[in-house]
Amino acid sequence: MWRGTRAIVHLDRLQHNVKILKSLLAPDVRLMATVKANAYGHGAHEVSLAALAAGADQLGVAMAEEAMALRQFGIAAPIMIFGALPPRAANAIVEQGITATVASVDDVRLLDQVGRINDKPARVHVKVDTGMGRLGVRDEAEMLAVLTAIEDSSYVQLEGMFTHLSSADEMQTEAGFSYTRMQRDRFLAALATARRAGFHVPIAHLANSAGLLWDASFHFDMVRPGIALYGYHPAPDWDTPVELLPVLELRSVITRIASMSRGEAISYGRLYRTDASERIATVALGYADGVPRALANKGYVEVNGVPAPMVGKVCMDQLMVNVTDMEARVGDEVVVYSADLASKASLARHAEVMGTIPYELLCGIGGRVPRECHPKLDVGLHDAL
Ligand SMILES: *Cc1c(COP(=O)(O)O)cnc(C)c1O
Repeated sequence: MWRGTRAIVHLDRLQHNVKILKSLLAPDVRLMATVKANAYGHGAHEVSLAALAAGADQLGVAMAEEAMALRQFGIAAPIMIFGALPPRAANAIVEQGITATVASVDDVRLLDQVGRINDKPARVHVKVDTGMGRLGVRDEAEMLAVLTAIEDSSYVQLEGMFTHLSSADEMQTEAGFSYTRMQRDRFLAALATARRAGFHVPIAHLANSAGLLWDASFHFDMVRPGIALYGYHPAPDWDTPVELLPVLELRSVITRIASMSRGEAISYGRLYRTDASERIATVALGYADGVPRALANKGYVEVNGVPAPMVGKVCMDQLMVNVTDMEARVGDEVVVYSADLASKASLARHAEVMGTIPYELLCGIGGRVPRECHPKLDVGLHDAL
């Protein structure tokens, strides 16, 4: 596009990550690619097609709108919604053959009614709260009530049961590991109770990226990796058993270079003052594009391979960097979030500086940043699926 700011999405690296994660699984364990939040900012349509083509069995999203958008793109693969069931979405979910999460008898009754109206089955997974404290049945009585309601309904079909780990990214610590093990044991107990009561649970699943990477005792029948697909380890200092490749790079261009004299103020609030005579470059993106304002005086961009420090506050649409003594011209492309983990401009380092996780920076990349896939998504791929 005209401005030159863009996110480059390396679909070949995404496919590498899918395949390498799959290589950790027993052959009968399914892989659900988590593509919520526009595939963590990467572009849900393209990522879904690439992931399915690389061997993902199905897709997971957070909400019904995301599932509908994928269906509108023509994706026919199974899609599951992780979030709570909004009554207003029930009709669209059943109509489009999306798999819903249920956590109450009311959820089941609603889907049964909607299934009857559409004369279509409603496939569901029962969510069990094993210690995340967010969503799901909270004890055996609640779980058995939901399972019984499913059994009593004509249109609702039980496809799976699942839970979500709260501390899988802290498995290297004793406290994190023992909590995660406790969640797994509670889930095993819930499954045993359901099966002892005669319910057939085809697909049990609990593992996010961290659970998948930890060991096979967390894999059950299916895994739901998100961040690992996009090339990041769930915890920065975790040496995972496989080499994941970061998928996204955020790039922009230099729109101005000014030779400043000593003591000139840069950006809002005059947070930065030039030291001696400095060359200050203006870059064509800002916090509306997802670069946090608080990276002021802390972040780096790469200019012709050399890290240049951000100076002054990040503006809505622009930011400034110090390119003194560097090769830099107006029109040069700069890397703002690098996929190279060794770079000072790496997305992982920017997340660390901000006291957050790569997830948040990826999801924050603004809607006005065009996503460019490399290699280009093969149009024929659509028909192949
Ligand atoms: C987001 C999400 C995942 C993926 O988590 P990662 O840590 O990105 O692997 C898996 N399951 C559920 C229910 C989620 O909400």
